[in-house]
Amino acid sequence: MATSVQTNTDQVFQRCVAPDCGATYDVGEVRTSCGTCGGLLDVSYEWDRLDVPDSLRWFEKKWARRNEPLCRSGVWRFHELLPFAPPEKVVTIGEGQTMLSRCDGVARYVGLNTSVGMNTGGLFLEYEGLNPSGSFKDNGMTAAFTHAHTIGAKRAACASTGNTSASLALYCGVSKLMQAVIFIGSGKISYGKLSQALDYGALTIQIAGDFDDAMQRVREVTEQLGIYLVNSVNPFRLEGQKTIMYRVLESLDWEVPDWIVVPGGNLGNSSAFGKAFMELHELGLIDRIPRLAVINAVGANTLHELFEVRGQRWNGGQIDHQTTAKFYDEMNEQNRRASTIASAIEINRPVNYEKCLRALDICDGVVREVTDQQILDAKSQVGASGLGCEPASAASVAGAKMLRAEGIIAPSDRVVCILTGHQLKDPTATVAYHTTDQEEFNRVLGSRGVQRAEFANRAVAVPNELDEIIRAIQLNS
Ligand SMILES: *Cc1c(COP(=O)(O)O)cnc(C)c1O
Ligand SMILES: [Zn+2]
Repeated sequence: MATSVQTNTDQVFQRCVAPDCGATYDVGEVRTSCGTCGGLLDVSYEWDRLDVPDSLRWFEKKWARRNEPLCRSGVWRFHELLPFAPPEKVVTIGEGQTMLSRCDGVARYVGLNTSVGMNTGGLFLEYEGLNPSGSFKDNGMTAAFTHAHTIGAKRAACASTGNTSASLALYCGVSKLMQAVIFIGSGKISYGKLSQALDYGALTIQIAGDFDDAMQRVREVTEQLGIYLVNSVNPFRLEGQKTIMYRVLESLDWEVPDWIVVPGGNLGNSSAFGKAFMELHELGLIDRIPRLAVINAVGANTLHELFEVRGQRWNGGQIDHQTTAKFYDEMNEQNRRASTIASAIEINRPVNYEKCLRALDICDGVVREVTDQQILDAKSQVGASGLGCEPASAASVAGAKMLRAEGIIAPSDRVVCILTGHQLKDPTATVAYHTTDQEEFNRVLGSRGVQRAEFANRAVAVPNELDEIIRAIQLNS
């Protein structure tokens, strides 16, 4: 493929995830799939030849060195667990300074214990919207971008429902090391995300099609023009996204929670989380692995359909690919398109599907699908608790509520929901949910099958008269 540079780091390489193939490639090679079998690639390490701390507490000593960019970054302060690039090549903009918050309001909504009393269970929100570009994507972008930089790339591209492009555009804009080329579908991307890509100066290619179309095209174009691809088929991106789990553990004083609940789109996050726990367990840094719940939207439910309905499994890497092929054939025949208000997970052909099956295997995982109504109701609860997220993120909370109702999650469990993106990414959906204007509601949400806004916080309209304004405040407070 396009570029290849010689590196000295023979403890790090890329390896095909299919165990019966297992082909390996140099860490300096640029590829998004296995040359032998077409499978996905992992970044693999020979840990016993690398310096790995013997306790996760070791990382705490970096807190005292926050003046150093590699210690300040919530991704690179875990460099020893993703040691694929030399420190001097790392490109960081302070990503990953996010927080985990216990949230009783959302716990009550989901049906979990609150912090009243001595229980350690409850609902925790990992707020990845605090990243520099407003979504978790920065965790992965700093890693992919660093790899691109080590191999000397001059252009980087992605297809995006919005957040990947915002993130790539930001890293290019700040570092000036590369030009960003982004591919978006038409009419789908939210204004918050589009405005970032345009503002940060990315070359923006708007394709007459949806995300799945854009994804296919960007693969062809990057291959042909030798542009570095930063979608989550890029194995280095997932290395950065592992650190979301390290920070969750760190915030829980290195205790492993019972559940990690995450929305599923291209399935990069869920795949990265599975790899993170697999490695931590192999390294003896944790003694238990949490369960993983991946939440699809009903209108983009490939993983749910294949895993829960058709029973497809990782099966030690012997995946029954015919089941997948048959499902995609059906989808093609019916010309079925992904459709959900949660645009960040509006994806029917998740590129990391096989890796996600592995993660579900490692973490004894489950998959659920939630409606746009459930997503927006859950989102309003997150907002009311003062954190705020975009619709896709709230699928995690809606999914946790569903699993709690089914009795799969217990009231005393410690549950971590990942809030993948910031509330301001998609104000249209939020305003429409809270609006008093029925026409606006129908236009934006009714068309998605959303019928009511049970938790709407509606603006109170008053004439411009002091008495009336005072009366309205007294009536409503
Ligand atoms: C990208 C994205 C997702 C989907 O994550 P995957 O790793 O592709 O499954 C979910 N929520 C938000 C806000 C995103 O930007
Ligand atoms: Zn292979």
